[in-house]
Amino acid sequence: MASKSFSEEDFSCPVCYNIYKDPVLLTCTHSICNTCLQKFWKAKGSRECPVCRRRCSKEIYPVNLVLKNLCESFQQREEKSQRELFCRMHRSELLKLFCEDDQQLVCLVCRDSKLHKNHNFSPVSEAVLERKEELKIKLEPLQKKLDNFKQVKTTSDETAQHIRVRVMDCFF
Ligand SMILES: [Zn+2]
Ligand SMILES: [Zn+2]
Ligand SMILES: [Zn+2]
Ligand SMILES: [Zn+2]
Repeated sequence: MASKSFSEEDFSCPVCYNIYKDPVLLTCTHSICNTCLQKFWKAKGSRECPVCRRRCSKEIYPVNLVLKNLCESFQQREEKSQRELFCRMHRSELLKLFCEDDQQLVCLVCRDSKLHKNHNFSPVSEAVLERKEELKIKLEPLQKKLDNFKQVKTTSDETAQHIRVRVMDCFF
């Protein structure tokens, strides 16, 4: 089974395009950062969803905790993988090389140090492919969570639709 990859897009606020910060869940099922929503409402002079323009009846909406947690994990992972690009000993140096003798990523300063004298190095792009596989394994539990979340969201969308139809039935 092919595993879906999830991207930054899944965690981006449709207003600020950043990773969600305290996303709130609107009745229309769209999620927006709380601060973005407040700003949008202020600028508009009326309360509506920035995505579908549906009127918002409430002033305060609940925080979308599942999404919030997912965003936090995603961000932590991003930061961690950013940090992993840099040499632990020479913090400003990118790990550009892979030392074949020590089987580890090294920076240009490491390469020239005594520690790796006469060692063989290969460009990191070759070594990165292997590391990607490793990362994929680590990400699987998070991916599953996201899939579940999407499923729940779809179900609640359907329920909302169902309710709408029922309400229409009562009125017409
Ligand atoms: Zn936002
Ligand atoms: Zn909406
Ligand atoms: Zn180094
Ligand atoms: Zn070495």
